Amino acid sequence: MTRGNPCQLPGMLPNYDPNDSEAGMKILEDLTENVEQIQQRVLEEIITRNARTDYLKGFLDGQFDKQVFKKTVPVVNYEDIKPYIERIANGDSSNIISAEPIIELLTSSGTSGGQPKMMPSTAEDLHRKTFFYNLLVPVMNKYVDGLDEGKAMYLLFVKPETKTPSGLMARPVLTSYYKSNNFKNRPFNRFNVYTSPDETILCSDSKQSMYCQLLCGLVQRQEVLRVGAVFASAFLRAIKFLEHNWKELCSNIRTGHVSDWITDPGCRKVVSLVLNKPKPELADLIEHECNSKSWEGIIKKLWPRTKYIEVIVTGSMAQYVSTLEYYSGGLPLVSTMYASSECYFGINFKPLSKPWDVSYTLIPNMAYFEFLPVKKKNEDGAQYVQCNGVCKENCMEKETEKEDVETVELVDVKLGQYYELVVTTFTGLYRYRVGDILMVTGFHNKAPQFRFVHRRNVVLSVDTDKTSEEDLLKAVTKAKVIVESLGILLIEYTSYADTSSIPGHYVLFWEITSKGNNHLPVLDHKIMEQCCSTVEESLDSVYRRCRRKDNSIGPLEIRVVQHGTFDALMDFCVSQGSSVNQYKTPRCIKSGEAINILDSRVVARFFSQKAPFWEPV
Ligand code: AMP
Repeated sequence: MTRGNPCQLPGMLPNYDPNDSEAGMKILEDLTENVEQIQQRVLEEIITRNARTDYLKGFLDGQFDKQVFKKTVPVVNYEDIKPYIERIANGDSSNIISAEPIIELLTSSGTSGGQPKMMPSTAEDLHRKTFFYNLLVPVMNKYVDGLDEGKAMYLLFVKPETKTPSGLMARPVLTSYYKSNNFKNRPFNRFNVYTSPDETILCSDSKQSMYCQLLCGLVQRQEVLRVGAVFASAFLRAIKFLEHNWKELCSNIRTGHVSDWITDPGCRKVVSLVLNKPKPELADLIEHECNSKSWEGIIKKLWPRTKYIEVIVTGSMAQYVSTLEYYSGGLPLVSTMYASSECYFGINFKPLSKPWDVSYTLIPNMAYFEFLPVKKKNEDGAQYVQCNGVCKENCMEKETEKEDVETVELVDVKLGQYYELVVTTFTGLYRYRVGDILMVTGFHNKAPQFRFVHRRNVVLSVDTDKTSEEDLLKAVTKAKVIVESLGILLIEYTSYADTSSIPGHYVLFWEITSKGNNHLPVLDHKIMEQCCSTVEESLDSVYRRCRRKDNSIGPLEIRVVQHGTFDALMDFCVSQGSSVNQYKTPRCIKSGEAINILDSRVVARFFSQKAPFWEPV
């Protein structure tokens, strides 16, 4: 990546043969050695290309200087750039935020006004993603031998997509990538051979896709060297699907015929080729394993050559580690990368490290990175808000006003400090607050490494949903109206994500009373179920999609608790160090002990009886 490198592609992307692991490692060394120069050049290139866009010209006035950029371009949230994104969505094709055409909008799992945020994407950005994915290969090869001697059973899925009024595609980032030529026409790489034919990944019916991918994975079980999905929640969903469908899958393997309900022509064709002929012995073997009383270690039993499970288990996915460990039989859980719809950020250079030790090294040619310092509790006398009890960290987020923000550059972050990530991307985001809180854990050469701490303002998450305290309050308030009309008062509430079974679901603990007296009212089942549904209907579009379309979230539950339960919760929190004077009921709880306090006082449980309405943006 040194200056004048003849193999340079546009947009700061070095060109190399992805089959050549040594060359890949060399590039990573180069990138992490020259962080400062690369970041400088990335910013120069982004500003030079885009200085005349509507967005930047308002701030830069034709000047391309970094200091001017940092002084005049504000640090922004999505709401600040939303009008520009909306112009793009509505067909204004002038250089609004990017000189390069925006070819599609990526619907993020973060929401604004209940709808997914939309991030710009360009043709070049697909190459940046491909470059990033290719770099994961040499890192894995450094730690695990022989990955070219078999296949990967990666369960990958596309999600529904829609078009903006101007006809631009709006879809999640991974759907966009899997449907791109960069994925579909990828050159053969012997380290990256999948058991799932592309047709099964690209099938828009998620049930058929899942069935066919598992079928192909089972048929090729002796070749499988690693298994995985993008997120832990998706992989566990696949195990549950297998639990429900193994008999039928085995019957297909036994007869060599795929079930009639697989109607997607692409899927039928490729799966028939993989099935090839009746395999009764293989079917017997799989049946024997699946029939066993306990599914502990099932992954190793079904795919005996598997060396690791590749799933993201950091951040909100950490809640699935113990369940994965149960099914995996001790296989390493590998979180390879940290990425988002805005930009792909970092790579885990020690993929075999334990989930809680995982750090990501930000790759300096992906974007220009800045960091907003986040203070630790009690570090100074200023006003800080607690990070919602989601993480067990001791960090506090300062309620920053836009004007009073000072960022730190990638090379200047300090070991042990917490920061919120801010990016300036090649696709038209400038000094954009991603909303993730990271902590510096070390350095690889000169590149800092970060642990993902938590996402700002998220209290509940089961799959890709991200529910904030405010979202929850709004939803609970709507449901509260229903019971109030019947003379019932909701005195207190809190929540947690129950992931003890798959799919996980949201649980609300409600302490209620009759208006006028202090007694627990008689509860009407139908009304309480309606409250559960109302909460679900009021949650954002990503929650409703997961719940209705992906089936990755189960029905929401309200657990009504005895009088005095929230006093007991307060006593517990105070015993753990909360100040009595400043105590506020946590709107989400993580601690097992606190959940036990609430659970031991539950008097009635109600579940939502219907999935909420959802349609693409
Ligand atoms: P989206 O915009 O829907 O693509 O979601 C991106 C967000 O998912 C990031 O900003 C993070 O909050 C979260 N995320 C992505 N990768 C990881 C990871 N490896 N560990 C923890 N959280 C992650």
